[in-house]
Amino acid sequence: MVRIVKCPTCRRDVPWRDDSLYKPFCSERCKQIDLGAWAAERFVIPGEPAHLPEESDPWKSRDER
Ligand SMILES: [Zn+2]
Repeated sequence: MVRIVKCPTCRRDVPWRDDSLYKPFCSERCKQIDLGAWAAERFVIPGEPAHLPEESDPWKSRDER
C-alpha cells in the first residue's frame, strides 16, 4: 500500500515511499523551490528597523550589563 501525499509546492499527488529522496515533494525541483521560499521569508522581519545603530540599541546595552 502506497500512501499519497500532496506536494507542498505544486500540489501534485506524490506517492510516499521510504526510498523517496524528496518527500513530501514530488521532485528535487519542488523541494528546492520550497526551501528557497522559506529561506527568503527569514530575511523579512516585519516592523524591525533594518539599520539600528548599536550604540543606541537598548536591548544590547541591557545584555552587556
Ligand atoms: Zn511538486
